[in-house]
Amino acid sequence: MHSIAPGSLLGILGGGQLGRMFCIEARRMGYRTLVWTGGLEAPAVVVADESIEEPFDSSSALEAFVSKAVVATVEFENIPRETLEAVAARIPLHPSPNAVAICQHREREKAFLKSRGIPCAPFAVVASAAELEVAMEAIDVPAVLKTAAFGYDGKGQLKLTGGEDPVEVWREFATDRAVLEAFIPFELELSVMVARSANGSVLAYDPAENRHRHHILDVSIVPARVPLSVAEEAKRIACRVAEELDYQGIMGVEFFLLADGSLLVNEMAPRPHNSGHHTLDACATSQFEQQVRATCGLPPGSARLLSPVVMLNLLGDMWPSEETQPDWSDLFADGAALLHLYGKARAVGRRKMGHANFLAADVENALVRAEKIKADLLGVSHP
Ligand code: AMP
Repeated sequence: MHSIAPGSLLGILGGGQLGRMFCIEARRMGYRTLVWTGGLEAPAVVVADESIEEPFDSSSALEAFVSKAVVATVEFENIPRETLEAVAARIPLHPSPNAVAICQHREREKAFLKSRGIPCAPFAVVASAAELEVAMEAIDVPAVLKTAAFGYDGKGQLKLTGGEDPVEVWREFATDRAVLEAFIPFELELSVMVARSANGSVLAYDPAENRHRHHILDVSIVPARVPLSVAEEAKRIACRVAEELDYQGIMGVEFFLLADGSLLVNEMAPRPHNSGHHTLDACATSQFEQQVRATCGLPPGSARLLSPVVMLNLLGDMWPSEETQPDWSDLFADGAALLHLYGKARAVGRRKMGHANFLAADVENALVRAEKIKADLLGVSHP
């Protein structure tokens, strides 16, 4: 199969931190990069060889993008389908517009999982107050109402505990399509990164155990503290998802682990994922290098975990003020913590500003060090 050699210009749709880390890895491997930001603030631009800072519906931007890049990929899923299809009509786009369209929309995602017999939470599609009323009877409370499109990090979600008036809920939710799904009393949340190449070779990373803070990923613990059989099953399901999507690229599959050891797929991300950032320092091949490889028609690199690791997300609320950097001296004093900052000028709210990977001989040690740094950054006392 024809592969794309170093030196070529790789296009990427989206210019956020995932695009930034893609560009850094691509550059290390000798590729050049072209970032199309969509007109949004884009930390990838400063590390890209070229950029187009125009909205995704601009026809001149499209023309510039496809006439320069030899191949393209995406770094976030909420890119209009028309843009994905217009790009794919002119240059190879990996993953395909269809795979992205399934993952960007909860209704399509759930329908895909159900049709392939891949376990997920019971759900009902809702497009009106009347349908919500029916769904609330079919799905036992507690349940979670989620917008069909543009939801992430817990945005566009509402927990229903029973007794709510469907008319009122639907009015307040203010969307035209949603999914009501059963609330899952999970033991743990896991995620698996999976890389699949043009010729169908597929390989999964060891699962990450994910903990959230205010609905945003806080720490990922790798390897996840689950029985080997659970880890193997999560990897097997993740590979199946990639195969069923005929996926070319890197993707994240998120799971709920139940008390009985069974796994349900929560959602999929058609791109590198926050819970895969540990791969930058703790795995033979990073998730971003896998994206470069798959996009260029190269075989996947080894996903072997070289060291137990804890990834700590660094959110805006750890910054003393919007424009003041935290004191990083304790983090730098930890000889096995690796800092990654995304170069965002302003630390607004709980924005993702960076992450740090803590390496150790075992995850418990890494977790203690990560929690200590987190507590210091947040200015709270550590137990
Ligand atoms: P999502 O944006 O769907 O990944 O949801 C964000 C977070 O909300 C998840 O990581 C879970 O912690 C929680 N969550 C989402 N759906 C459910 C569910 N059906 N049951 C329990 N918790 C959920």
